[in-house]
Amino acid sequence: MECIFCKIVNKKLPSEIVYEDDEILAFKDINPKAPVHILIVPKKHIRSMNELKKEDKDLIGSLFLIAKSMAEKTEINKTGYKLCFNVGKGAGQMVDHLHLHLLGGWTEGITKHNI
Ligand code: 5GP
Ligand code: ZN
Repeated sequence: MECIFCKIVNKKLPSEIVYEDDEILAFKDINPKAPVHILIVPKKHIRSMNELKKEDKDLIGSLFLIAKSMAEKTEINKTGYKLCFNVGKGAGQMVDHLHLHLLGGWTEGITKHNI
């Protein structure tokens, strides 16, 4: 059975898509933990960073480059942002399909934000 992010990737579930190419989809988090909260997701189902293979090297690089580009597009590059992979239940991973969190847009200055 497809996981929830595979369903989003395959457009069986709606999402607010902000970027798409052949390998990657980026969409807004449904329950944002920051003023800007985007999930950058490989279309290929990889359960977590623990399952990452050497052959995924370019894909993981692309996730970061798209994150950078989304940070520029939303202008959070000017105020600061976080990039995060939660790996495993103990770290708060709820969806077992690899996703890079891009979080930013805080206005209150230097604060520590956790997700
Ligand atoms: P995790 O806790 O696995 O690192 O992050 C999963 C993220 O996916 C959470 O921030 C959660 O709000 C988001 N999320 C879960 N289900 C959906 C959904 O159906 N649509 C969207 N857009 N985000 C989702
Ligand atoms: Zn999946």
